[in-house]
Amino acid sequence: MRRPPLILGGGPAGSAAAITLAAGAAGGARPVVIERTSTPGDAICGGFLSWRTLEALARLGVEADALNHARVTRLRLFTRTRMLETSLPAPGIGVSRARLDALLLDRAARSGAGIERGVTIREITDGAARTADGATLSADALFLASGKHDIRGSARPAAARGADPTLGLRTRRIGSAPRQVGDAIELHLFDRGYAGVVMQEDGSANICLAIHRSRLTEAGDPDRLLQALAAEVPAFGERLAGDAAPIDAIANVPYGWRARHGMDGLFRLGDQAAVIPSLAGEGMGIAIASGASAARAWLAGEAGAAWQQRFAAQTARPLMVAGAVRAMAERPGRFAALLPIAARLGVIDAVAAATRIAHR
Ligand SMILES: Cc1cc2nc3c(=O)[nH]c(=O)nc-3n(C[C@H](O)[C@H](O)[C@H](O)COP(=O)(O)OP(=O)(O)OC[C@H]3O[C@@H](n4cnc5c(N)ncnc54)[C@H](O)[C@@H]3O)c2cc1C
Repeated sequence: MRRPPLILGGGPAGSAAAITLAAGAAGGARPVVIERTSTPGDAICGGFLSWRTLEALARLGVEADALNHARVTRLRLFTRTRMLETSLPAPGIGVSRARLDALLLDRAARSGAGIERGVTIREITDGAARTADGATLSADALFLASGKHDIRGSARPAAARGADPTLGLRTRRIGSAPRQVGDAIELHLFDRGYAGVVMQEDGSANICLAIHRSRLTEAGDPDRLLQALAAEVPAFGERLAGDAAPIDAIANVPYGWRARHGMDGLFRLGDQAAVIPSLAGEGMGIAIASGASAARAWLAGEAGAAWQQRFAAQTARPLMVAGAVRAMAERPGRFAALLPIAARLGVIDAVAAATRIAHR
């Protein structure tokens, strides 16, 4: 009998793997999730879940209404001078990561997975994971789901970050912002970056930015950066009204990176498998698709390397399309005039469809 698989990280990718592995374990190989946080955190994320991701979550036993009763039905795009609004192909939702991650991990536990919280993996070496307190955890398969955080021995290459790396910044607003945002997912486009704004289940507006470091360097600090962006796109400034939550940040998001080759015994999931530009709102879709798919492959007797290559092929089109759209979104001065034409020609719907991952 194979030894129980170990899942390193309890975000959407790790939980999807745990639920699928536990459901297929049939008496043996009960999976164990190792999660460094002791209580559900609130990862830096735009919090938008597409219709396709909601279907995948429902198959894992997490219904959309448990996340948020409200639906996001429209996309609103802002540049300095323009606003464009269009219907989404199907409703999505906005949800805090604290809520999503807690429900998914709870579902994994109820499916039979073991959950070890407050344990940090420091290194992966010779097919085993070493914890911060020096223990070595061995398993027939490691499912690497540490997301935005790299682990020594399996880190994504620094070159993937580029010469002017992208930062993720997140804050929230309560008060006047909710009325403006309503049932839309908003994208505010700036020089060298963009912000997504969406309402969450707790009534706050989640404001999440992906922006090149050079903009932060020019502004001096995150607060002054937000002021500069508010001056650049006035509607964004209006969204910043209301009671402010602190600004959280994450450095060096390697958008566009994919694990093209695999290694037997190691399944790279979620952001450790492929990092899609966040304006596509599909990172969590990829995380869930990868977790479920890798778990099924392992249950079917696969060792990892071939699965990783297949998953990389599956992510190629969504990443390529999202990368091209991101390149234009970060130069709104040059491309903003094309937006109304793109909407009339159905290009926005086509992009929304082409950036979704297939859940097989
Ligand atoms: C600015 C920004 C906006 C985004 N907006 C959206 C959006 O609107 N919609 C969308 O679908 N996607 C969005 N994404 C992408 C999305 O956040 C990620 O793709 C998704 O979180 C990946 O899930 P994951 O499970 O791979 O990793 P994560 O969500 O990062 O989870 C990793 C888990 O592993 C744990 N962990 C990390 N290191 C260790 C360790 N050493 N030991 C043990 N545990 C560890 C962490 O605590 C965490 O719980 C956005 C990303 C950014 C940067």
